[in-house]
Amino acid sequence: MIAFVLGHEMAHHELGHVRQFPDWYPDFARNSTGYLTYRLAHIPRHILDHPQNERDADARSLELCLAAGYDPHKCIEFYDVAKEKILDLGGITSVFGRDDNILEEQPSIGNLIRHKAKTWLENHTTGYPYLIDRKDSAQRHLEDLLSAPEGTQVFLS
Ligand SMILES: [Zn+2]
Repeated sequence: MIAFVLGHEMAHHELGHVRQFPDWYPDFARNSTGYLTYRLAHIPRHILDHPQNERDADARSLELCLAAGYDPHKCIEFYDVAKEKILDLGGITSVFGRDDNILEEQPSIGNLIRHKAKTWLENHTTGYPYLIDRKDSAQRHLEDLLSAPEGTQVFLS
């Protein structure tokens, strides 16, 4: 499990998620408004990309754990431990997502759109998909990795 967490952070670096500034930035920043302009321009990208970056880092971490010989099923026990910790802190929505009883009680296109919009907004303002969704994504990726014919690469590019 620790390997998975370390692999996740390594993956953020490898996949370029922590790279705040492009190569051309130092010259641009010499302009007094360069820093502010860049940061303001960067906010939408951060909001849009961050939840997917988390899923990608999880997937890449699984690949790294497998390559290093760790049991991937033990690695994804991370989600169960994280779930308990987050629930202890009262983060029910962070773990399970929005309560969608309204979709079962009053199914309608309007309720579905509202539910999807609130979910998207919540995931993108916190920067993290719900933990249950991250676990589902990781499990699907793990199934792909384990079912791929030997010699086939299903790794993230
Ligand atoms: Zn992360």
